[in-house]
Amino acid sequence: MERLKIAIQKSGRLSDKSVELFEKAGISASNNSSRLLLASASDFPIDILYLRDDDIPQCVADGVADAGIVGENVIWESGKQVETVEKLGFGKCRLSLAIPRDTTEYNGLQWFNGRKIATTYPVILRKVLNDNNIQADIHVISGSVEICPAIGLADAIFDIVSTGSTLLSNGLVEKEKMVYSEAVLIKNESLDAEKQQILDKLLFRIHAIKAAKSNKYILLNAPKKNLDNIIRLLPGMKSPSVLPLADSDWVSVHSVVQESEFWEIIDKLQAEGAQGILVVPIEKMIL
Ligand code: ATP
Ligand code: ZN
Repeated sequence: MERLKIAIQKSGRLSDKSVELFEKAGISASNNSSRLLLASASDFPIDILYLRDDDIPQCVADGVADAGIVGENVIWESGKQVETVEKLGFGKCRLSLAIPRDTTEYNGLQWFNGRKIATTYPVILRKVLNDNNIQADIHVISGSVEICPAIGLADAIFDIVSTGSTLLSNGLVEKEKMVYSEAVLIKNESLDAEKQQILDKLLFRIHAIKAAKSNKYILLNAPKKNLDNIIRLLPGMKSPSVLPLADSDWVSVHSVVQESEFWEIIDKLQAEGAQGILVVPIEKMIL
C-alpha cells in the first residue's frame, strides 16, 4: 500500500494550524514531541515531513513530498510548478508597500518610480512593479526589511503585513496593499492514482472541517403562526426540522446557518417572534 508524504512547516506561524487540521481530520500529525523530520500517521496512509516553509514548494515540485501546506507567498516567490488544491483559510497576510511616515509628497503608486525598495520577496515585487508599470530599484535582503529606510538602505519596503504594528514601530506606514496570501494545500503535478486517492480522502475530510467551521447549528422556539416565515429564513442543509412542543401554539425549529449571515438572520428571527434561540458549533459537516 502506498503512502502519501505531506510536507508541513516544522516550526513557525503555519505549524500549529497545519497539525490541528490533520488532527481534526483524524490524522495524528504531532505524535513526536521533538518533531523529527518524518512522522507516520498510524490511522491514515500518510507520512508527515517537517521542513522549513521555504523548502516546501521545491520538495513538492520535485516529488520528494507528494503534497504540502505552505503560504501562497512562498510558492509565488519560489517560482516552482505545483498545483494548488485547496485554500485553507489560515496564515492570512498581505504583501504591502510601506514608506517612511514623515514622507510628505506621497502621490500614489507612481511615487515608487525611481525609488529603492527593500524586500525579501524580489520575485513577487518584480511582478507587482511590472504589472503597475513602475520602474524601481529592488534591494534584496534576507531579514529585518523594516529597518532599511531608517538606516538609508532603501526609500521604501515591500513586506508582509498583518497588523501594521511592526511598521509603525519602525517609523513606516503601509501605503499600498498589493498581494493577499493564505496557507494552501499543494500537490505534485503528477501524482499516481493511488496517491491521488489518498489525497482525495484527505480533501473530503478537509471540506467537512471547513464547512463545519463556517456554519452553526441553530435551535429555536417559533410561534406556529409565523412558522412559514421562519422556515424561509432558515433554509438549512435540506430544510429545517420542525418538532412539536407541549404548547400546541409553538414548535421547535432546528437548522444550520452560515456564520457570515448569522447576525442578520438572528435579527429577522426575533422580528418573527422566535424565542429561546440556541446556536451551537458544528464539529464536522458532510454535505
Ligand atoms: P521558516 O523557519 O519555516 O522559514 P519563516 O520565518 O520563513 O519560517 P513564518 O514567520 O513562520 O516563516 O511565516 C510562515 C508563513 O506565515 C508566511 O510565509 C506567511 O505565508 C504566513 N504569515 C501570516 N501572517 C504573517 C505575518 N504577520 N508575518 C509573516 N508571515 C505571516
Ligand atoms: Zn521561511
